[in-house]
Amino acid sequence: MKLESQVLLSVFLPFMCGASLFGQARPLASPAQVQELYTRLLPQIEKIPIFDHHAHPGFPDDADVDAMAAPPGSSPLRERDTNPELVAAAKALFKYPYADLSAEHAKWLVNRKAELKKEKGIAYFSDILDILNIEQGVANRAMMADYLDRKRFVWVFFTDSFMWPFDNQKERSRNVDEQVYIPLQEKMLHRWMEQEKLARLPAAFEDYLKFITQVLEDNQKKGGIAMKFEVAYFRPTRFGDPSREQAEEIYKRYSGGGVPAEQEYRTFQDFIFRYLVREGGRLHLPVHIHSAVGIGDYFSISEGNVMNLENILRDPRYVDTVFVLIHGGYPLEREAIWLASVKNVYMDSSLMEVVMYPAAFKDSLRQWLETFPDKITFGTDSFPYNDALGAEESYWLGVQTGRTSLAATLAEMVAANEVSESKALEMAHGYLHDNAVRIYGGKVH
Ligand SMILES: [Zn+2]
Repeated sequence: MKLESQVLLSVFLPFMCGASLFGQARPLASPAQVQELYTRLLPQIEKIPIFDHHAHPGFPDDADVDAMAAPPGSSPLRERDTNPELVAAAKALFKYPYADLSAEHAKWLVNRKAELKKEKGIAYFSDILDILNIEQGVANRAMMADYLDRKRFVWVFFTDSFMWPFDNQKERSRNVDEQVYIPLQEKMLHRWMEQEKLARLPAAFEDYLKFITQVLEDNQKKGGIAMKFEVAYFRPTRFGDPSREQAEEIYKRYSGGGVPAEQEYRTFQDFIFRYLVREGGRLHLPVHIHSAVGIGDYFSISEGNVMNLENILRDPRYVDTVFVLIHGGYPLEREAIWLASVKNVYMDSSLMEVVMYPAAFKDSLRQWLETFPDKITFGTDSFPYNDALGAEESYWLGVQTGRTSLAATLAEMVAANEVSESKALEMAHGYLHDNAVRIYGGKVH
């Protein structure tokens, strides 16, 4: 043991022993005390301005809210248009005068939104943020919308499409979901090519990589703060580590036409994914990765398992890349939080607090707060699902669940003697705002 640490220990040891005797955690807390703490903490937590780390703001008729589309499939209970909470959302956001969302009453809501949209223009979505006390939020969209105020919404763009440059007939034909998704990836790639004035794929692999870098740099100049992958919808998330020569060979063979064998395509994609991750480190563009279950009938939960990403996240070559695990690996969020032990890996709880009710979400959040409280960030995953559950209502649902669950879980932690009340509030600021903002080095607030 070094001399300094001996000195440090002798100074702090008596204090630490004292503190642990005084502050010993207990497994059971009195419900009355938890309730009292909850009542005191919630109004303070409501006053914390939120940075929303993941959302897709937009109107239902706007195709750019995502780089893919939802195939017809079954929504979990809380995301259905029958959710009675949506009446409370409509009341809070639009002063909705009815107690149900019957077809006739819902028409009032659709009309009211159309009126406000016309009347407020660029302030429409900013006003929703104001009502919910969201200071600034991510707009994870194919392209930014001119109806979103750039002071309030920061762009996160999609980078999956660089992995699908070849003839995709085999990729498309795997199932009906891919028939929807893959053409949208092709469309996205063509939009990036148009942006860089490329009429066709470059002949040389080197120039294809330069094109990718150019898109990243240009998007960053346009205000993009991070790149996003939703790759789990299109292929397994376990990425191999092929050489550049292997990828180049495959590019040469198929960039002019021809359908690659599945293994060839995956090898090429493994290289491109790692190239993007590395560029994310060089350009200070954090890498957001969808890490949870997904919609549609054919989303593979096992092949999209968050743990498949471990070899990438713990690869010392990528220490300069900040990773954000969007949706926290749900429903494996309890395992996934341990990935945040890597210093450049962060968690985002969006979707979790919409799929789960507060009663369940607070327990997941507690485990996160008890493990790496400085690495967890809040997001709503706001998205225009349908007329009753628009981006507006999903903002409300995410924020309400986030704040009430946070107050409940911190009340339990304080009552169980795990943290002091002031430490609890510091954690609340971290989760709702500070931890995410810190990642972007002054580009967001
Ligand atoms: Zn999302």
